[in-house]
Parts: sequence; structure tokens; C-alpha cells
Amino acid sequence: MDYRLDSHMHTVASGHAYNTIMEMAKTAAEKGLELIAITEHSVNMPGTCQLFYFMNLKMVPRRLFGIEVLQGAELNITDYKGSVDLPADVLKNLDVCIASLHLPCIRPGSIKENTAALLSVMENPYVSIIGHPDDGRYAVDYRELAKAAAERHVLLEVNNHSLDPASSRTMARENLITMLKWCEEFGTHVILNSDAHWCGDIADRRFSGPLLEEIRFPEELVVNRDVDLYRSFLK
Ligand SMILES: [Zn+2]
Ligand SMILES: [Zn+2]
Repeated sequence: MDYRLDSHMHTVASGHAYNTIMEMAKTAAEKGLELIAITEHSVNMPGTCQLFYFMNLKMVPRRLFGIEVLQGAELNITDYKGSVDLPADVLKNLDVCIASLHLPCIRPGSIKENTAALLSVMENPYVSIIGHPDDGRYAVDYRELAKAAAERHVLLEVNNHSLDPASSRTMARENLITMLKWCEEFGTHVILNSDAHWCGDIADRRFSGPLLEEIRFPEELVVNRDVDLYRSFLK
């Protein structure tokens, strides 16, 4: 499958990643991508950048080394009602928003609570992607998730890092197989993201690529093959 874009990565601004925007863009260009999105952890993650960082992203050029470089955020979902940790007037100026459940920012709830959190955050008009819904520490009803994502035109992420044996997330493989089965059923689009915290990991799909092949997931539901298709999900 053609892999044109990677829409989830972090720089030094996130506090636990190790490259600059310039280094990320240069590496992505060398790897032949057409587009990347820089998605720093939002303000509730310990050690990350704060509100003014996101407010001032308008300063950063959206083309570097001949590729498109979007500026977004990985928002923390902060309660089971789907609240996030940046205000709408900041979100509206970002190019792309991922919403994710992270241990430092929300305690894992019941399957009902976690699912409610993800379904509610999809109602946020600025959220385009649900980040690593494969994390077994937050049990989710994948049928409900895939159905709602299709209805609300939100992408579900297949996170390569979750599948890495070194990841602290659990049960990603089993969960993704279940999630993708429902995505096929409901026609839900997915995105393969690296979640790179190091430039060398940009576009990494060592684990996610073979999984999709193994279960013969339909290519037409994977937005990475087409920048315009990906763009149709941006708010
Ligand atoms: Zn991180
Ligand atoms: Zn994350």
C-alpha cells in the first residue's frame, strides 16, 4: 500500500521526545512522505508545552524540505464526558487534533466509561483522529467505537508504537483485530500512525502494516494512501 503521510509525532516540545520540527520534517522528506503532522502532547501531560505554544503555531511554515508539515495537538481526554485540555478558540487554529486517553491525565474507567469518553470526544468539532484506541488498559466497546467513528467522520488510529513489544500499552494486537473487524463492517476509515518520539521512527509501520495484511483489511479504508482523502477528515 502507498504510504503518503504520517499524522502523529512529537518533538522536543512534548518533553519526552528528542528532535526538532526541522529534524522531523527533513527525515520525513528523506523517507519520501508528502505530509506529516506534528502533534505535541497537550497541556495536561507532565513536561509538555503549554497554552502559548499552541497559540503561536501560526508562526511555523507549513512547508519544509518540500513536504507539507501540519501543526496540531494530541489532546488529553480528561473525563468520561469527552472534555479535552485545550479550549476551542485554540483548537480552531490548529491543522489537526488527535484525542487520546493517557494514564497521567485520566484513570482507566469501566468499559462503559472509556467508550463514553471516546464517543463523546468525537462530538468535539475539532477532533479528527482517536489516538491509540488499541490500549488494553482502557477497555473499549469496539463495535460502538467503529460505528460512531463512521457516523461522525472521525478516523480511528492504528498505532504502530502500541504494537511494539517495548510499548507499555497492552493487548494492542487483539484489540486492533477486533476493532478492524468492526471498521470493515461499518466502513470506518483508519489511519496508520507512527506516534514517533524519535525522527527515525517517522512512517514506521513495521508492526501495523503486517497486521493489516494478515487480516486482509481493505486498503480503501486506509487514508494514508491519499492526502486528499486524509484531508477530508480535517476539521
Ligand atoms: Zn508521548
Ligand atoms: Zn498518545
